Amino acid sequence: AKSEGRRCYHFYTQELDAALQERMELDQAMRHALERGEFHLVYQPRVDLISGRVLSLEALVRWRHPVWGMVSPGRFIPLAEQTGFILTLGPEILRQACEQIHIWKARGIPTVPVAVNLSAREFRQPDVFERIMGALSTAGLEASDLEIEITESAAMSSVDQTIRTLTQLNDRGVCVSIDDFGTAYSSLNYLKRLPVHAIKIDQSFVSDMREDPAAHPEDAAIIRAIIGLGQTLGMTVIAEGIENQVQRDFLIEHGCPQGQGYLFSRPVPAGEVERLLGVGG
Ligand code: C2E
Ligand code: CA
Ligand code: CA
Ligand code: CA
Repeated sequence: AKSEGRRCYHFYTQELDAALQERMELDQAMRHALERGEFHLVYQPRVDLISGRVLSLEALVRWRHPVWGMVSPGRFIPLAEQTGFILTLGPEILRQACEQIHIWKARGIPTVPVAVNLSAREFRQPDVFERIMGALSTAGLEASDLEIEITESAAMSSVDQTIRTLTQLNDRGVCVSIDDFGTAYSSLNYLKRLPVHAIKIDQSFVSDMREDPAAHPEDAAIIRAIIGLGQTLGMTVIAEGIENQVQRDFLIEHGCPQGQGYLFSRPVPAGEVERLLGVGG
């Protein structure tokens, strides 16, 4: 029995090694990728659900690896969070976004604000406010050119620091949205104290409204509750992951003013943004 146990243990560590190995390999590759400029941003519009007018753009990072092709942020962002590499990548994402906004402004394109996602770990950096203001001033931008998105779970951790940072951003005119709302069981009493401009309904709720909202009464009820909550707290409500007209109609019917999703546009490279904004070719 003793030797069997040992063999099991051995097997277990081998598997663990393989998983660890893969993560280390990915982590190494990310660091090289940054040096080689393999990260870039794509932009997805946030629209007025009724008119379809573009109100802002959300910047989403993309990694094109020379051999592996596109690596999904769903795969490398969580790892970058764990290893701390996000503290190197995050500022680069913010810099690229601000530089791009500057380019659009310099070319006289009637731009809309650009929202950048900050991971929990970035948002908890003690100098996050100074970093954001620094990125704005380096690129010669105004506070209203940039928006920030933090996830509900990030917003709900370290309460005092979150409120302090959000208040600083709010005072300077940088709008913040709470992303993936509905997934982290926020205390409503706490939520009402956060100076945020918008809450984004997590796309998991919206995705079940694809065919027949009546067939998913729980998700429909959660969506309606979040819309009501936003109205009560004076926050804009943005629905994510809208892929078809059924979802759009359901959301409009229940008073959701804004949304994002493939129905309006996939995230597109910077060069295609002018077309989305209806300027140029
Ligand atoms: P998120 O911030 O909730 O972003 C929304 C995700 O939904 C994006 O995936 C977007 O491409 C996708 N999406 C948009 N419309 C639709 C739709 O109609 N249907 C479906 N099925 N999906 C849609 P993406 O770009 O793969 O990003 C995944 C997550 O990775 C993001 O979720 C965010 O948490 C993280 N992420 C992406 N870019 C960044 C970044 O620059 N910084 C940080 N910290 N995180 C990022
Ligand atoms: Ca987001
Ligand atoms: Ca989201
Ligand atoms: Ca998400």
